[in-house]
Amino acid sequence: MMNDAADDSARDAVAGQGELSAFGLVFLIEDSPTQANYVSQQLGFFGYEVEVFGNVTDALEALTQYTPLVVITDINLPEGPLAGLQATPQIKASGAEPPVVVALSSHTDFQTRLTAVRVGVDGYHVKPVNVPALVERLDRLTSGWPDAPPRALVIDDRKAQAHVFASALKADGVIARTLTEPDAVLEVIEEFQPDAILLDVEMPNVSGFELAHVIRQAPANLAIPIVFVADDEAEVAGRLDALSAGGEELLSRRLHRDWIVTVVRRRAIRSRKMRQQILCDSMTGALKHSALKDELTRQIAVHAREGREFCFAMVDIDKFKSVNDTYGHAVGDRVIVSLSRLLTKNLDPADSVGRYGGEEFGVLLPDCGLEAGMATMDALRERFGRVRHISDGRVFQTTFSSGVACFPAIQDMDRLIERADAALYESKKGGRNRVTAA
Ligand code: GH3
Ligand code: MG
Ligand code: MG
Repeated sequence: MMNDAADDSARDAVAGQGELSAFGLVFLIEDSPTQANYVSQQLGFFGYEVEVFGNVTDALEALTQYTPLVVITDINLPEGPLAGLQATPQIKASGAEPPVVVALSSHTDFQTRLTAVRVGVDGYHVKPVNVPALVERLDRLTSGWPDAPPRALVIDDRKAQAHVFASALKADGVIARTLTEPDAVLEVIEEFQPDAILLDVEMPNVSGFELAHVIRQAPANLAIPIVFVADDEAEVAGRLDALSAGGEELLSRRLHRDWIVTVVRRRAIRSRKMRQQILCDSMTGALKHSALKDELTRQIAVHAREGREFCFAMVDIDKFKSVNDTYGHAVGDRVIVSLSRLLTKNLDPADSVGRYGGEEFGVLLPDCGLEAGMATMDALRERFGRVRHISDGRVFQTTFSSGVACFPAIQDMDRLIERADAALYESKKGGRNRVTAA
């Protein structure tokens, strides 16, 4: 049995990698402590923070203070057998952004479902709750929820100008970085991975258009949108140059700053989405095999340059064939998706999760030594083992094994993968459900 202390240390080990990403607050209205504990613990594995209320009155009271993204409510509550549904319009009316409401019910009958629809419930789950399915649902219902903020690079030789744009971008939820020395542009782009670039046209030693050509010479940078800013006179004459330099847009510095910031932000969001479509596996949302290897190559360059270390881990679900054989391929798929989500949601946005194939994943932990990498993977392993999957009312749990290799102890990409894989094999041989260092 797991006790609370073990629970906390697992959380700390994962959180030690950085802030939990996409950490979402959920209210749960549930009068059975057993159910409440179960659902909040399980949702916690997927990065949701759950606040539990034993009745409608307490929840409505809390909703006057602040609004979570999602309210999950039991239907039968101390206030009455349909209290959860009756409270839904009031829950929806709280806050500027109405929360998404998901009902948990022991009723499968049509009438209750219809009542739920009529009061405006967004999702309906029958107990026992299949949490990985609920998580998929929550992720979809809250899709306005950014996975990781877009990133923009502001290049301007004048520090003050660069900072003005960068802080306006930051105020708009963009991770912004400034660059005043154009010489370093390729290294900075490689490391920072901007989704868009705001580029000053008039700089002393190099024009913005020339710099754009240099940026575009690196194939990896072909798709990054570049927005130029120019002083007014330069604007009209420069339009054509801007286009031929591979820029998307030339804006006058005289435009309102908010306008410029909005253009950059929208470009960044769009380019991130497009990149995601291309680079990510459609079933799990994790990076595709090839994109994971590209990321590994990139991180080797970045870490080598700065003498830093990182970890690469291979993860493989244990005895997965028997999940497929017992519950069917579709349920197997759901288990794979749940692992992908668990990894992604508990790691830092700077970390990468890729689907290496089938039920096998690769995890890249930047700026992380072997010991911390092992602790992180072990905390994830421990969490995944406690996720309850449900198929036709049958509950089962699965585990994974992992192998961790560390750069620069192992320098070369193929060797890193090989050694992580060999360590994974050791974990399998040693009895599975464990993490081994290369
Ligand atoms: P081990 O503990 O040694 O890893 O045992 P295992 O049963 O997991 O063995 P292995 O990793 O070799 O087998 C993986 C199985 O996963 C084989 C394949 O049928 C199944 N699989 C691969 N891709 C998918 C997928 O996308 N969906 C589903 N449902 N199953 C998959
Ligand atoms: Mg396996
Ligand atoms: Mg496998």
